[in-house]
Amino acid sequence: MKRTVLICGASISGPALAYWLHRAGFAVTVVEKAAALRGGGYPIDIRGTAIEVVRRMGILPRLRDTHISLRRYRFLDADGGEVASVGPGAGGQDLEVTRGDLASALYAAVRDDVELLFGETLETVDQAGNVTFRSGRTLTFDLVIGADGMHSRTRESLFGPEEQFHRYLGYCFAIFTMPNTFGLSRELMMWNTPGKAAALYAVGDGDLHAFLTLHRPAPYRPDPQRDLRDLVATTFAGEGWEIPRMVEALRHAGDLFVDTAGQIRMPHWSRGRVALVGDAAYAPSFLTGQGSSLALVGAYMLAESLATNPDHTVAFAAYERDLREFVTLNQALVDNGGATLFPATAQALERRNTMLRGLDAMPSATTRPAHSALTLPHGAGARPVR
Ligand SMILES: Cc1cc2nc3c(=O)[nH]c(=O)nc-3n(C[C@H](O)[C@H](O)[C@H](O)COP(=O)(O)OP(=O)(O)OC[C@H]3O[C@@H](n4cnc5c(N)ncnc54)[C@H](O)[C@@H]3O)c2cc1C
Repeated sequence: MKRTVLICGASISGPALAYWLHRAGFAVTVVEKAAALRGGGYPIDIRGTAIEVVRRMGILPRLRDTHISLRRYRFLDADGGEVASVGPGAGGQDLEVTRGDLASALYAAVRDDVELLFGETLETVDQAGNVTFRSGRTLTFDLVIGADGMHSRTRESLFGPEEQFHRYLGYCFAIFTMPNTFGLSRELMMWNTPGKAAALYAVGDGDLHAFLTLHRPAPYRPDPQRDLRDLVATTFAGEGWEIPRMVEALRHAGDLFVDTAGQIRMPHWSRGRVALVGDAAYAPSFLTGQGSSLALVGAYMLAESLATNPDHTVAFAAYERDLREFVTLNQALVDNGGATLFPATAQALERRNTMLRGLDAMPSATTRPAHSALTLPHGAGARPVR
């Protein structure tokens, strides 16, 4: 009989894992608390080893078709004056796509093969694989995998409160869409003052992705979903350029995503019959730009371990052993991200601006050794697509 596995979360790591576990002969069920798959969304990068994962899944050509190629990056000072205007870099193999385009490609790769339940939420799970859903149903699976993101319910249910694993990185951010009244097309405008950054990102000609990020050294404690909008709005109030319009849009945004920048660091990613994958286990934060790549590579490595080791205890141990160094290297990239995009002091901002003024094109050195630090195995379940 097929072994049953429940995957909680259908964003990036969940469907990627579902794809490989189905190929390895598991009966896969995926639950997702959102009512439906969401398209669009902010842009994310897929780099290095993760490119090989999507290639082996056969979705690389589709993703290349949705690759976002920006024409220009403009950096602005407090009053909106131009500090630097920089063209795109050489490109290379890395991909930048919207989170929704990646999620849609992954979903299309699994929807005919696994049971996908939208609008269902995991409430509790125990080490033996007994799961209670919000609907009140209780089911038992051979294995349960939490792919439910940074604020994972699976993790909390099994390992306890998030605080013990969360490493705050000193920034709070808000992301939302707003009308493109600026006439921007395939470009990024980035406004900075020390400790504050505002970005308008035009993926195409349509709505803009607006980002407001603030530096806040002391950890932010209260309920992020309720209070952070207000913190961001009041911090940016009174600033120049187009900030007032952005703050207004933030206050009324229907698709607001607001959180603190942080990492999840756990001594172990599994307990009993339950394991974690992606942001739930090792979120690196958006400052590294590696969250989706870790989610894809983590899903592949977990499926590979389960496909080659019939004993799940051995499989989970192998997953941790083989992936840990890759995770550690990528989480360590965080310092670069913060300093370049969000300088916290006047001196750091001036250094960054001096560097930008000397550039004709964005450095293609966004590719770092950590991105490709793992070579994927070719195992029993994870046969490559030719
Ligand atoms: C602003 C921003 C920019 C980013 N930029 C980049 C980038 O450039 N490059 C990059 O690689 N990464 C980037 N990331 C990170 C990336 O989005 C995440 O790391 C990645 O999506 C992690 O995937 P995941 O599937 O593990 O978790 P998530 O994408 O968080 O998905 C978790 C899923 O689980 C569902 N869920 C949660 N709880 C439950 C429950 N109890 N029951 C059922 N379902 C549940 C959620 O609805 C969600 O669909 C960025 C993130 C942000 C916020």
